[in-house]
Amino acid sequence: MSDGSLPRPPTDSGLVSVARFLPSTCAEGPGDRTAIWVQGCTIRCAGCFNPHMWTFRGGEQVPPDDLAARILASGTEGLTLLGGEPFDQAAALARVASAVRQVGRSVMAFTGYTSLQLQKAAEAGRDDVAALLGATDLLVAGPFLRDRIDTVRPWVGSTNQEFILLSDRFPHLLDDVQRAHDRIEVSVDASGQIAVNGWAELELLDELLSIVGRPGPRSPARDQL
Ligand code: SF4
Repeated sequence: MSDGSLPRPPTDSGLVSVARFLPSTCAEGPGDRTAIWVQGCTIRCAGCFNPHMWTFRGGEQVPPDDLAARILASGTEGLTLLGGEPFDQAAALARVASAVRQVGRSVMAFTGYTSLQLQKAAEAGRDDVAALLGATDLLVAGPFLRDRIDTVRPWVGSTNQEFILLSDRFPHLLDDVQRAHDRIEVSVDASGQIAVNGWAELELLDELLSIVGRPGPRSPARDQL
């Protein structure tokens, strides 16, 4: 892929393809946030922790206005977009992000593209990319590199990934991430299903899951088990 030529997603239905909706979490960005994992990713990093979110098939197809209403109803401080690849469905997500920001809440987006790729795509006429960048306060950019695992900063998987402030919403964040620790969050729903999100090293996850009687993951994971 050359800079400025991001691939077009296979479909552009105007809907958001949602792989997972988590109403509230303190493990996916600053503060209490609603997290959405989108379905579909064209980047396909080796060692990706969510390969089942690569395909553009499946997922819940949700109109942007309906998704924004669900996010706002959750009452959190903001929205975090993960994936899958949010910028592979940037047009629909830009509508969601704009609605979240209109009521004063923040938007954080993870992407496997570099910030330079996104910037050049926007300059080359990708209005969808420009719109989602314009509705994002905090971008975490860059592909996951499994030989560069980041054990220091919160939320990110590898040391190449950059925190980029696109607004003045988080003025101290770049200092804070140097002092913060990874956080892992475990929840059990009424049916007994266990979900783990956040980022942790394999040994910790193995220990944690053995306590609750579940087999360990094959790779570092921030996904539902
Ligand atoms: S780490 Fe993110 S960008 Fe990379 S393949 Fe997985 S979902 Fe896609």
